[in-house]
Amino acid sequence: MASTASIEIYCPHCQWEPDGGAHWHCRCGHVWDTFATAGTCPQCHYRWPVTDCPPRPGGCGITSPHIDWYHGLDTLIEELVEEALPVAQP
Ligand SMILES: [Zn+2]
Ligand SMILES: [Zn+2]
Repeated sequence: MASTASIEIYCPHCQWEPDGGAHWHCRCGHVWDTFATAGTCPQCHYRWPVTDCPPRPGGCGITSPHIDWYHGLDTLIEELVEEALPVAQP
């Protein structure tokens, strides 16, 4: 899918972009990059519905729904729907 390039990931509050570092701590004690696993802890497999913006690497510290970090999904879905729908005949 070529359209995946239009998706951007950044904090909905401060626009901090995840840098690929392990900045998230799970309740099981594991530390990992939550955007590498779409919010799921690789150790205990708990799926986090919310994601903190880590202040240490430059984030704002505000917790947001994980899905709110993804930008461009609406456009992607619109494109997929348009492709899936039959072309209207005049
Ligand atoms: Zn865990
Ligand atoms: Zn932030």
